Amino acid sequence: MSVLHVVGCWTADRLARHGMPHPARCPMCDQGTETIDHLLLGCVFARQVWNVVLTDWGRPDWLPLVDASLADWWTSLVVQNKKKQRNLNTVITLVCWCIWRHRNSVVFDVATPSVARVQHWIRSESVAWRRAGLFHRVNFSFPSVDTVAFEWSVLESPFSLLPSGM
Ligand SMILES: [Zn+2]
Repeated sequence: MSVLHVVGCWTADRLARHGMPHPARCPMCDQGTETIDHLLLGCVFARQVWNVVLTDWGRPDWLPLVDASLADWWTSLVVQNKKKQRNLNTVITLVCWCIWRHRNSVVFDVATPSVARVQHWIRSESVAWRRAGLFHRVNFSFPSVDTVAFEWSVLESPFSLLPSGM
């Protein structure tokens, strides 16, 4: 899965462009127009998810702005080598996928938006994605002054892809 796959999601703005029925407002916050950038980054709900995830990674400075573009934000996150970058891309895809999946539960199953529910999915999906070999086996030293200040505990933890020391 890539950025292009994620941005292919049928959000309200995309449905509207095709003349199809669509929610008037973002189903997660009932405020903004549901674009992919809003849903996955700028929405108050998405920002709560990212705040938890990025704080756990030790990168709260990566928290997307309210008006962030998914493509611009994602490409601004750079780590030191290709394997780490690929792991980062995979885990961001995972978080986006879990937000999108929860959005669909809210729209189609009338679920109540829940950050805890998304966190649960991130953890359970990370186990499945790890078993599927979607993460490179890269060990980080953490913390380190000259490396990005997070590590993937995917090799050790059966529970979370978030860094140790949580
Ligand atoms: Zn919203």
